[in-house]
Amino acid sequence: MINQKMYELGTKKSTIRTIFEFGRKRAAEVGEENVYDFSLGNPNVPTPEFIKQAAVDILMNSEPSAVHGYTVAPGNPQAREALAKSVNKRFGTNFAAKNFFMTAGAAAAITICFKALAQPEDEFITFAPFFPEYRAFVESVGGKLVVVPAQPADWQIDFAAFEKLVTNHTKAVIVNSPNNPSGAVYSEETIKKLADILRRKEEEYHHPIFIISDEPYREIAFEGYTVPYVPKFYDNTLVCYSYSKSFSLPGERIGYIVVPDEVANFGKVYGSIAGAARVLTHVNAPSLWQLVIGRCADMPSDISTYVKNGQLLYQGLIDAGFECVKPQGAFYLFPKCLEEDDYAFCERAKKYDLLLVPGTDFGCPGYFRDAYCIKTETIEKSLPLFKKLAEEYKK
Ligand code: PLP
Repeated sequence: MINQKMYELGTKKSTIRTIFEFGRKRAAEVGEENVYDFSLGNPNVPTPEFIKQAAVDILMNSEPSAVHGYTVAPGNPQAREALAKSVNKRFGTNFAAKNFFMTAGAAAAITICFKALAQPEDEFITFAPFFPEYRAFVESVGGKLVVVPAQPADWQIDFAAFEKLVTNHTKAVIVNSPNNPSGAVYSEETIKKLADILRRKEEEYHHPIFIISDEPYREIAFEGYTVPYVPKFYDNTLVCYSYSKSFSLPGERIGYIVVPDEVANFGKVYGSIAGAARVLTHVNAPSLWQLVIGRCADMPSDISTYVKNGQLLYQGLIDAGFECVKPQGAFYLFPKCLEEDDYAFCERAKKYDLLLVPGTDFGCPGYFRDAYCIKTETIEKSLPLFKKLAEEYKK
């Protein structure tokens, strides 16, 4: 009668949502200030003034059809031109408007890429820990998600494990750096090594293997960490970018795909992206927000709150006795649980109203995710509770 898979996706709540809703219930019982909700990756930094001003100015002073009307499917040409110029300035690339396809955020961008590329039996590789929606998105287009086990020492790539999982069916490799949930940034060495292996595998299997670089956290990289621009290291790269996190605009749904000229069969890949967007009824990215980000393309992101929160939480967790890789970017930490069963650990943390997400949900059991895009005071108040929780395990 109905599509069972869709029913399950629509009615089975994600663990993150369930924890978040539990937090809302607890806040009503014990007060907002007594709940330490590290569950959601919803940016807490206010949307920049320059974005708000641009939105108001465009709303009030532009042709209504430009603001509220359909745009061409790839997006407003002037906005794409502005983005191409901005990216070229930053990364020394040579893009034009024709290399950009505007989307409703990164979720749409990556799903459009999956749909554009997937043929029967195709495999899409991701590295644990990974953004849980990848599975739903890849499977929705008939692909198979293949997960490379994690490398917890530094959350870079376990290349030996990776090489064994690349097959003749591999269509693309999903790279997410800065990473949700590990907070790690892939080094230039990691990206170069990945590119070398993929070039070798492309030769062996006689077909392109794409990198889909999912980059909603690109701007949130901390001092000492540079996020390599993947197309500079590997030709068959599709970049999926978003303003959800960098400009705190997750509800406005705005981002883009970059298809570099160097991609094998550029015209076919770009055309297929347009086709995928069409059948996914994407129509066009929100017109107003295309204009806003076109105007603000060169503006910086304010990441100072995430720097402060990350350091505070990291130090507090280390002092309490947790094992954790230093924050490098995004706004997540992914520490080791104090018992093997991450669900049991997160359940125990609830006793202190510490709301943590089990690592199993990210393909990495035994760890938990802390989203620190929350008030700094909440983190400060949570630290003695993490200490108490850790002390329980020392008894
Ligand atoms: N990819 C990753 C790794 C994410 O963490 C998220 C959102 O949390 C997305 C994609 C989706 O972002 P957007 O809001 O741009 O669709």
